[in-house]
Amino acid sequence: MSNPKVHLRSFGCQMNKLDSNLVENAFASAGYKLTDTASEADAVLINTCSVRGGAEERVFSLLGQLKHIKESRPEIVVAVFGCMAQRLGAELLNHEAVNIVCAPAQIPQLVDMVADTLESKVGSIAVTENIRSRPQPELSERLDDFELAYDRPQERLPSQAFVRIMRGCNNFCTYCIVPYVRGPETSRPPSAIIAQIKKLAASGVKQVTLLGQTVNSYRYETGENSYGLAELLEMVSEIDGIEWIRFVTGHPKDFDEKIFRAMAKLPKVCPYLHVPAQSGSDRILKAMNRGYTSSDYISLIEKAKAIVPGIAIAGDFIVGFPGETDEDFATTVELVKKVEYKNCFVFKYSPRPGTRADEKLGDTVPAEIKKQRNIELLAVQEKISLKLNEALVGAKVKVLVEGLSKKSHLNRAENSGLPQLIARTATDRIVVFNGHIELAGRFCHVQITKVSALTLFGELLDRLTRII
Ligand code: SF4
Repeated sequence: MSNPKVHLRSFGCQMNKLDSNLVENAFASAGYKLTDTASEADAVLINTCSVRGGAEERVFSLLGQLKHIKESRPEIVVAVFGCMAQRLGAELLNHEAVNIVCAPAQIPQLVDMVADTLESKVGSIAVTENIRSRPQPELSERLDDFELAYDRPQERLPSQAFVRIMRGCNNFCTYCIVPYVRGPETSRPPSAIIAQIKKLAASGVKQVTLLGQTVNSYRYETGENSYGLAELLEMVSEIDGIEWIRFVTGHPKDFDEKIFRAMAKLPKVCPYLHVPAQSGSDRILKAMNRGYTSSDYISLIEKAKAIVPGIAIAGDFIVGFPGETDEDFATTVELVKKVEYKNCFVFKYSPRPGTRADEKLGDTVPAEIKKQRNIELLAVQEKISLKLNEALVGAKVKVLVEGLSKKSHLNRAENSGLPQLIARTATDRIVVFNGHIELAGRFCHVQITKVSALTLFGELLDRLTRII
């Protein structure tokens, strides 16, 4: 088959989006054409997420649609990869629509697996047998080579790229499936990370985001040298062409002061931390096996604010964890008020099969209470976000432009004739303003004129108002 067409759907976190980019790149390099339409594809690839039940349900619903498409086009090959592939393995292969199951550690094999199935019509599976044992060096090297082959900016985020610095997780938070589907924590060699970022910078990338499940526990030993995240930030800062550096996600128990000092010292490192607290109740934090108390967390945030001027903090919370009482929830609300997050992501607890919380604690908080707590916590956060944003009215901010705002028909400046663009500040605040689309992927300065809890609105200040 010459230039077969492939359609890719991606669910889940930033780590999954990165895997999708790597896979898309590998298929394009192997001569496949990408299509936005599943029904006209020769192969449909689905990158899956197991973090919440809802994410898995969406994948099963998509598989249901593909089953219908396959009634008229049985030759379409459907490959499921990512966390669900590792979690469900052969069970997923039994689904009528599925031909290939490929776990996250096996994605370098995906192109060959699809090519074989297109040819032979025989399905296949590649998952990791003992997911918690240390990966074989050959497997890590293969994943690293696969990673290194990706050297372009993100298609929908010009001048930006995400770079994985570590894989897996060793923390075993009781609600989380990640350690069972992504395996033990392994850090990539700094030399490979730096080589990759240099290639990205040469292809026009100006902002890199270093990715890891617990990015601040990055550690790589070689001979007498030991590298942590602080050292890596220093090394990435030295790369010409890279202007902004971000890292996500941090675990509260693994921050050492060196990281904050590096953030304060290195002008390229954005003053932004995403550091999930999950709960403000010590009892619930213990049941979650998070390894810190709420006062440890608050001290950490105070230290970050004291060392890094103007730092913005984003958080994650789970409401309705098994056993969470009204009093526990009240302590979470207090924590949110005390920290004054830039923004928070709030999730209703979703039991995941195979986790300790699911096996031992059940799902005791009624759905209606979870929903109420979710709404209440978001409302508390909205007031804080609005207050912090209001302090920025009149400020001049530097932003990196992402592209057209999804709501570009709104807020169009009178008679400007220019579309509305979306951009982000170094502190990860969303800014929209009217400007030429050619600004996408460029830095510029904007004066903030009005705000909402989620967005800053402004006017472009630089000469780049007109592109010539
Ligand atoms: S730190 Fe906890 S929540 Fe985060 S990936 Fe690891 S186990 Fe999951």
